Amino acid sequence: MVRVSIVVPCFDESEVLDAFHTALLAALEPLGESFEICYVDDGSGDPTRERLRQLAATDPRVRYTSFSRNFGKESALLAGMRMARGGAVVLMDADLQHPPELVPRMLELHRHGYDQVVARRDRTGEGAVRSTLSRAYYRLVRHFMDVEIVDGAGDFRLLSRRAVEAVLSLPESNRFSKGLFSWIGFDTVTLAYRNCARAAGRSKWGGRRLLDYGIDGLLSFNSRPLRLAIHTGLWLFLSAFAYALWIVANTVLNGVDTPGYATLLTAVVALSGIQLATVGVIGEYVGRIYHEAKRRPHYVVQETDARDPAHSAAPA
Ligand code: UDP
Ligand code: MG
Repeated sequence: MVRVSIVVPCFDESEVLDAFHTALLAALEPLGESFEICYVDDGSGDPTRERLRQLAATDPRVRYTSFSRNFGKESALLAGMRMARGGAVVLMDADLQHPPELVPRMLELHRHGYDQVVARRDRTGEGAVRSTLSRAYYRLVRHFMDVEIVDGAGDFRLLSRRAVEAVLSLPESNRFSKGLFSWIGFDTVTLAYRNCARAAGRSKWGGRRLLDYGIDGLLSFNSRPLRLAIHTGLWLFLSAFAYALWIVANTVLNGVDTPGYATLLTAVVALSGIQLATVGVIGEYVGRIYHEAKRRPHYVVQETDARDPAHSAAPA
């Protein structure tokens, strides 16, 4: 039985992979615990897969799964958690932005009885625009979501075996793990660390992808945006009703005098804007239902190390 599993999603990480692997081993080996490293190659176009194949061939503690194309980090994390056999599972990035030195402290806290140990980074060295935007986003999310999402707490975390089983038991195909981890509950402790730039290679999260990720987060956990649409509609209806009463009263008292072209146009434009946005929100939910209804697998495995019974694809 392995005590600790480290799950590492990798997408085009061949430039940092070796440095990461060395640093991780340096942090894990002195602990004297049995461990395994589960790499998930998320359809990299660079030699990441070849490198993982070599690592797994020379070190029995290394296992890997390789996707047939890029399925996204959420799918890679899921595959890694399915692969992991350890009593404690640590999820971390391959780019050394999640310092491996923290893993022993996370395990220490886990031994004290915590089911989730969340590493939370500060925002040192991050661009002013990006950090202001993310802060605003988290404030917004806190209003809308039932689950609590902590600013700066990413996917670098330790999960106990039962926490992993809980996450794996959630069937949805649209996976927003930050929310899922918070949804499952259990005793959680946060550990702060200093943010650092990625060691090599480049980030795959451009503005567009972050925006989509943000919208996913808002919509994945409840239907509060729909509720907001109903509220807006009700308020508009009430104000229109009041305005109508006023018009009638005014006409009765003062006679007919209605130029009002600008008022009319403004009202029409504002209303159609609200209607379009509302239809958009409804469409998002319908799209999600469609997506879930297809029940597609989260990823397709192209290759795994031969030792891995969890995935059926034949090793190359
Ligand atoms: N990653 C992945 N699939 C993707 C994008 C990213 O598996 O489609 C992995 C990537 O290899 C890295 C981690 O997710 O280990 C975080 O990615 P990145 O460093 O690009 O994100 P950032 O740190 O900029 O948020
Ligand atoms: Mg990174």
